[in-house]
Amino acid sequence: MKNRSLLMIPGPIEFESAVLAAMGAPTTGHLAPNFVEAFGQALERTRTLFQCKEGQPFVLAGSGTLGMDTACANLVEHGDTALVINTGYFGDRIGAILERYGATVTHIRPAAGHHPALSEVEQVLKSGHFKVMTITHVDTSTGVLADVKGLSALGQKYGALVIVDGVCSVAGEELNMDAWGVDVAFTASQKAVGVPPGLALAVASPKALAAFKNRKTPVGSYYADWTNWLPVMQAYEARKAAYFGTPAVNLVFALNVSLGQILQEGLEVRFARHTRISKAVKAGITALGLGQVPQNDSIAAHTMTAPRFPAGINGADLVPAVSRVGVTLAGGLHPEIKNEYFRIGHMGAVNQNDVLATIGAIESGLSACGYKFETGAGLAAAQRVFSGS
Ligand code: PMP
Repeated sequence: MKNRSLLMIPGPIEFESAVLAAMGAPTTGHLAPNFVEAFGQALERTRTLFQCKEGQPFVLAGSGTLGMDTACANLVEHGDTALVINTGYFGDRIGAILERYGATVTHIRPAAGHHPALSEVEQVLKSGHFKVMTITHVDTSTGVLADVKGLSALGQKYGALVIVDGVCSVAGEELNMDAWGVDVAFTASQKAVGVPPGLALAVASPKALAAFKNRKTPVGSYYADWTNWLPVMQAYEARKAAYFGTPAVNLVFALNVSLGQILQEGLEVRFARHTRISKAVKAGITALGLGQVPQNDSIAAHTMTAPRFPAGINGADLVPAVSRVGVTLAGGLHPEIKNEYFRIGHMGAVNQNDVLATIGAIESGLSACGYKFETGAGLAAAQRVFSGS
């Protein structure tokens, strides 16, 4: 394994071997009893993961963007109004999707790396009626962690259906749909859920389903239409086979294995592990003299870190230099600051060794780029977090 590289981007991530083994098992038919059982169990586990006791889970073949598309297509009709809490690139994307389905969209769009004040959001909610409000839990382009609890409470207060893009958060950041009043949340398999790319997972609250059932016009997307998927999801959960579109059989087997592992670890324990890992990465980055895109720690994600390039180096050289020593990182994504920062993903199966390898590789990369710093300072800071000293 001399050419092995550690994948530390914000999805896809490193996967557990049991999950990959499930992917590689011989494919069964989608009506086979063992698949019916695995799909049924995966749906139940999805509901548990999203913490929405009466919610309806959907597991569809597609990427996270299908999750966005499905939520918007099913809840929005021409002429509806939507409020997007826009903390980066994926806020722009959901705004574009909402518009595609006929909504008039208002964005609350703070500068990159910032989170809007709840008072500002309340002012906007008060000033007009919004059918839906969207929140990107972790915007992967900025690493900003949204206050889903506070924002959802406001959305509920002013009668908006709350949609949460949890693609870079679910199974890594705390998300409690029931307690926080979230109506639809979705994610993708390749991030903290820990399954190779190809599945969109979503849960709709009873209120969201009621809004869907009260639509006056048909859903504008054929594939995303819950009318087609609802009977299928309900059938599999009742351990009966059903068909609308062929499910991604191997991915669903793998999902069931990963969700089993996630619930076995326990959600509280898992979130605490992500917090500890994140603190170690951020301590390492800070000790090396690098700033971060999020303005402060309270709005910084625990599933990823977005460090700024230090002054005096050519940022474009850093990610390839780190890659040469065996760790794959991601470049910038937010159009306004794209060349000013890079991104480290640390979610799912990530452990202490991965963090130390990553910080060590970043030190090597910085050094190769001619940046002056105390060698080992980042590693020492990360290790102090792990040892609690
Ligand atoms: N939302 C967020 C917050 C994301 O990070 C991503 C993917 N990076 C998406 C949506 C879109 O997911 P996908 O690339 O799987 O379509």
